[in-house]
Amino acid sequence: MNKISIMEASVRKWNRIIEGKGSDGGVLDCPPCRFFYMLVCSGCPIAAYSGKKFCKETPYIAWYRHQNEAHGYMFRKVYCEECRRLAIDMRDYMQTIVDHLKAQQEAGE
Ligand SMILES: [Zn+2]
Repeated sequence: MNKISIMEASVRKWNRIIEGKGSDGGVLDCPPCRFFYMLVCSGCPIAAYSGKKFCKETPYIAWYRHQNEAHGYMFRKVYCEECRRLAIDMRDYMQTIVDHLKAQQEAGE
């Protein structure tokens, strides 16, 4: 799998969450984490894009914090309108990275 298809899998994961059909297991079911997270976060396209490892400074942090503070269940999924908004932010961010990688590929980088 190349980085673009890994990130496209992540967009699909967040779309399922937005539709109420999926949940977020963090590292366990994050497509890029499966390839780039082995005790440390290394080489992930999200980190390359944001400049921060472990999804710091991405919409994931707000999602994760809201899940813990407002809901606190083992499965992070859409429980309220705020969840839905935050999941959409995350999906859009994943899509931004897909677009960024495609532009890079087209530029021959
Ligand atoms: Zn919520």
